[in-house]
Amino acid sequence: MADLRDLYQEVILDHTRRPRNFGRLAGANRCAEGFNPLCGDNVTLYLKLVDSVIEDARFEGNGCAISTASASLMTEALKGKTLDEVQVLFGAVHALLTSADGADPAASLGKLEVLSGVREFPVRVKCATLPWHTLQAALRDEARPVSTE
Ligand code: ZN
Repeated sequence: MADLRDLYQEVILDHTRRPRNFGRLAGANRCAEGFNPLCGDNVTLYLKLVDSVIEDARFEGNGCAISTASASLMTEALKGKTLDEVQVLFGAVHALLTSADGADPAASLGKLEVLSGVREFPVRVKCATLPWHTLQAALRDEARPVSTE
């Protein structure tokens, strides 16, 4: 288990140091902002949605290591997914982060599995879920920023 935890930590650190898909997205047609006042994280998510498929996703913002890594991993995972697939993924990640049983083993989380380490640090769970709640707001096309509080 210790080896697995080291690996998870390594992936999270890598995404924190070199966030993927960071910056504004030209041609985005969905956008939302999210805040986590507990930690001071903020994230702006840009999506390009074409025929119910997420063609591209990028994010900007200032956040802690966990929120940045979560946003980076999320934007990687979203590309090419249909809206239905995104909702399945959201449910699986939410369960992974918040339920004692973890995610449905049938859900294929791929690299997102590394976020499971966050469950050991309850105060950081909102950092990790922030990009995902911001994603929901972007898909609902909400103009009002979302807050984890
Ligand atoms: Zn945070």
